[in-house]
Amino acid sequence: MALLREPLLLLSRSGTVKRLVSTMPVSAGIVKSYVPGESTRTAVEATGRLVEDHLKVTLDFLGEDTLDVEQAEATVAAYVDLLKELSVEGLSRSAEVSVKLSAIGQALPDVGHKTALENARTICRAARNAGTTVTLDMEDHTTTDSTLSILRELRKDFPETGAVLQAMLHRTEADCRALAHEGSRVRLCKGAYLEPEDVAFQDRLEIDKSYVRCLKVLLAGEGYPMIATHDPRMVEIAGSLASRFGRAPGTYEFQMLYGIRPEEQRRLAGKGERMRVYVPYGTEWYGYLMRRLAERPQNLSFFVRSLISKK
Ligand SMILES: Cc1cc2nc3c(=O)[nH]c(=O)nc-3n(C[C@H](O)[C@H](O)[C@H](O)COP(=O)(O)OP(=O)(O)OC[C@H]3O[C@@H](n4cnc5c(N)ncnc54)[C@H](O)[C@@H]3O)c2cc1C
Repeated sequence: MALLREPLLLLSRSGTVKRLVSTMPVSAGIVKSYVPGESTRTAVEATGRLVEDHLKVTLDFLGEDTLDVEQAEATVAAYVDLLKELSVEGLSRSAEVSVKLSAIGQALPDVGHKTALENARTICRAARNAGTTVTLDMEDHTTTDSTLSILRELRKDFPETGAVLQAMLHRTEADCRALAHEGSRVRLCKGAYLEPEDVAFQDRLEIDKSYVRCLKVLLAGEGYPMIATHDPRMVEIAGSLASRFGRAPGTYEFQMLYGIRPEEQRRLAGKGERMRVYVPYGTEWYGYLMRRLAERPQNLSFFVRSLISKK
């Protein structure tokens, strides 16, 4: 099954397969288990249900790698609209947003960095007005420097903006040290992209060891660690390290993806941990879904069946 990871991650970047697969209605089988819906309304309703269960939420308006200025602007507008809705529904204290810079212009030739920074500022301002925060998702390693530099710029005006670091990259332990300062919100994940050997650990055990080293740096530091993993061992180790470093619940949080280990999400919240669920929504679910299948190729057979049964 591990052998399927690489081809699935390669397919996640294929335009042809994307067009074929995306004709499948979002309600079909496996997509629905990872993505609650396409509209702002369905996303806000899903948020309301999670918040009732004492979970926090971060919402991702799906989309990535856009080379189209208008599409980038439409994504910004979707976030602004979402943030207003969350505020109107009284959910913005429990729900923030996660933003992929490549969805708001980072990949545009020449003006990518500047465009993504301006667009991210607009979303941060809307989040501030709604009383909540933004976390910048991390994409493949070619974008790490640009994303961290945009983060530094944004934090001058919006110091509450969160970052994501990926344990699979060799550089990440050092990045954790640089970001483990007071007020700094850092989500630590393993990393979802296909990365070359010269920049990233390839072996699962090496990635896990790096994850634990990074956890130690973040939990011993002064910032606010956001521990994003479904891995039972990492969750357990994070809990022990939090106690060892004298961290009370609420001075860090766990994060998991919508639809993955929902019982564990509720168990952690039930024992007093702060637990945030990452809720993706929208029509551009293809890349997100392929990364989830690459993590768990056992789900591929359900996916193929739902493709075959499409009308
Ligand atoms: C809140 C959140 C935000 C994230 N943001 C980013 C980001 O910005 N950039 C980035 O590169 N990556 C991001 N990721 C993805 C992350 O990098 C990993 O690819 C993903 O979380 C899988 O790693 P894992 O730690 O869960 O462990 P794994 O070793 O993949 O899985 C451990 C166990 O979790 C369960 N599990 C894992 N995946 C599934 C699944 N699809 N279905 C059912 N069970 C499953 C299984 O029991 C598995 O044995 C994010 C993840 C989370 C939870």
